[in-house]
Amino acid sequence: MRLIRFLQRPPIVDSLLVKLDEKRLMKFYLGTNWKMHRTNTEARQFVAEFLPLVRELDLSSHYLFVIPSFTSIQIVRDAVTASGLPLKVGAQNVHWENGVEATGEISARILADIPVDLVEIGHSERRRKFGETDTDVNRKARAVLDHDLKALICIGESRAEKEQGIGTQALEKQVREGLEGIPRKALSKVMLAYEPTWAIGVAGQPADPSYVQEKHAGIREVLTSMYSAKIAAEVPLLFGGSVNHQNFRSYAEIVNVDGLFVGRAAWDPESFIELIKISRCMNASLS
Ligand code: PEP
Repeated sequence: MRLIRFLQRPPIVDSLLVKLDEKRLMKFYLGTNWKMHRTNTEARQFVAEFLPLVRELDLSSHYLFVIPSFTSIQIVRDAVTASGLPLKVGAQNVHWENGVEATGEISARILADIPVDLVEIGHSERRRKFGETDTDVNRKARAVLDHDLKALICIGESRAEKEQGIGTQALEKQVREGLEGIPRKALSKVMLAYEPTWAIGVAGQPADPSYVQEKHAGIREVLTSMYSAKIAAEVPLLFGGSVNHQNFRSYAEIVNVDGLFVGRAAWDPESFIELIKISRCMNASLS
């Protein structure tokens, strides 16, 4: 049980207490997106090395996931299924249509048949390089939820929005438009990953934990105003952007951070295992 957030309860209002009590039951979300990082041969090597290391860990308090490129999903899926380990497998993108007139795209129906457990939507690279809008993100999320898969929706302000002091508004717009029309009952299958675009990748500048804390609290407030405090408290909010072994703890400790979405620092199997061990140590020392 994750008690880290409850050690020093400030005098807070009842609704926030409800929110915190809900979070006692939430697993810690930890996953990685491979982007275009691995060939099929490399994906096979990864699972051959990673899965035996995962087997040595108690993951009952974790929701652990890997998101390979489309071509490697089945390899990872088959290896994970054969291992019986509770590792979740995702896809990096999806098209919202189920028909046949979208050559080169992959539908939620195809992904559900593999099956994947979750689908990442709206990564900042998709938004920036492929012009994905909040409307596209919303269509994709609906398609994923309609197929009973989990939607991992990425949001995050750009450096320009941050510098103009409109980062909070940009995030609110992404949350509201990304979730528009998605009913309460579907929210149990939604996860949000806050990834400020200026913090991601080799050129990324790691965000200050206090900044992340403020943004995550704001996202939770937007969810509360759209749904309810109870539903908002149950939506896992992940943080991502230059997370590594040194700063992992400073982000994982934040009250409204329910998990971490890691790129480079989790691509190597042993490096990923070390991150899992850090989060397990945090749980163990505090429970
Ligand atoms: C990402 O690309 O979403 C990401 C979080 O990458 P990194 O951890 O390498 O910054």
